[in-house]
Amino acid sequence: MRYCPKCGHQVDMMIPAGDNRPRAVCPSCHHIDYDNPRLITGTIPLYQGKILLCRRSIEPRLGYWTLPAGFMENQETTSEGALRETLEESGSIAHCKQAFSMISIPKINQIHLFYIAELERDDFHPTEESSEVALFALDEIPWDDMAFSSVTKTLEFFIEDHKTGQYGFHEDIIRINSVPEY
Ligand SMILES: [Zn+2]
Repeated sequence: MRYCPKCGHQVDMMIPAGDNRPRAVCPSCHHIDYDNPRLITGTIPLYQGKILLCRRSIEPRLGYWTLPAGFMENQETTSEGALRETLEESGSIAHCKQAFSMISIPKINQIHLFYIAELERDDFHPTEESSEVALFALDEIPWDDMAFSSVTKTLEFFIEDHKTGQYGFHEDIIRINSVPEY
């Protein structure tokens, strides 16, 4: 950021008093811009034991499969965001059952949070963001064509828990060296 979002003055990168890392600080109105990690929230949408996946029609990872997920918006809860993204990406209405995985990806300043969700009915369709939307049995997951490693990890946790019928909460970290690798 080069200009203050409050007053438009050019900002300085400096460590504010009492802080311990550089921030964009406005010398005119003293606004401090805090650049913090962002939360991506999504679902594992289930219908009769199958998982709904979306084939991405947008970059990044165009053409690869993913769980519906996206950036949380202001004024919504994590589960509202997850269900909104599910509707936007798959055209389906779902209900959150429980928080299931939380994966930090410090290199890209993101946290990915997935809920187990139940589809209201067998009703979904391609959308602006998904060229294809389909239900997959647990032994049909297209592992080689998954878009994101947080989604792969989440599905691995899900399949592991499914064997016991006890669904827990899984926290993990993905360490990457570059964004394209992710
Ligand atoms: Zn300012």
